[in-house]
Amino acid sequence: MGIRENLERVRERIEIAATRAGRKPEDIRIMGVTKTVEVNRIREAISAGLRLFGENRVQEGIPKIEALSDEDVEFHFIGVLQSNKVRKAMNYFSAIHSIASLKLATKADRIAGEMGINYPVFFELNLSGEGSKSGFQEDEFNMALEELSMLKNIKPIGLMTIPPLETDPRPYFVRLREILYKVKPFFGPEFKELSMGMSDDFEVAIEEGATIVRLGRIIFGERK
Ligand SMILES: *Cc1c(COP(=O)(O)O)cnc(C)c1O
Repeated sequence: MGIRENLERVRERIEIAATRAGRKPEDIRIMGVTKTVEVNRIREAISAGLRLFGENRVQEGIPKIEALSDEDVEFHFIGVLQSNKVRKAMNYFSAIHSIASLKLATKADRIAGEMGINYPVFFELNLSGEGSKSGFQEDEFNMALEELSMLKNIKPIGLMTIPPLETDPRPYFVRLREILYKVKPFFGPEFKELSMGMSDDFEVAIEEGATIVRLGRIIFGERK
């Protein structure tokens, strides 16, 4: 099936899941995750109406962002971010979903200050407790809140998580939503996005409050 048909079916499924949860489908944004996807196929998705894309590697994303600079689209960074790539990521991507430590947040804040911008970020939470995974541990996040809230050049707009493989993802989505509401007083009214849900679990994520679902394979097919 083509990208247009895939997107059509995804939109239908989003509408059904949203309705089931008493939510408005238009409150859920689809991010097309384009890692390994070539520019001509991204253009197909654009012509089918997709406007938000995500890449998980800075070096892979930049040439695509440049090639598509004539299009009215937005790229967000969603991958593990090394400290020495923060500036590059901020130069090319319009938001980062994977601010995974206080150190990274502080660096992004300093660079945004130098750039004279207020840069939108998501904090990534590692809710599985697996030390090998990237993201704030919940207790670490709680302890960092005060300092994070004082960084004035980044604009925290929400939270992101990736549940562990091969478990029921729902408790992780529920937890992310609870944390969002709990910590909202630190970050203000613009802190409202839940970046959660991928090809295999986006409907569950929508039932639990996702505002951005990050979809790769279900739109573009299996990655090689
Ligand atoms: C690859 C990726 C996705 C999309 O995964 P699919 O299973 O292809 O939908 C979402 N989020 C992140 C962070 C990714 O790296």
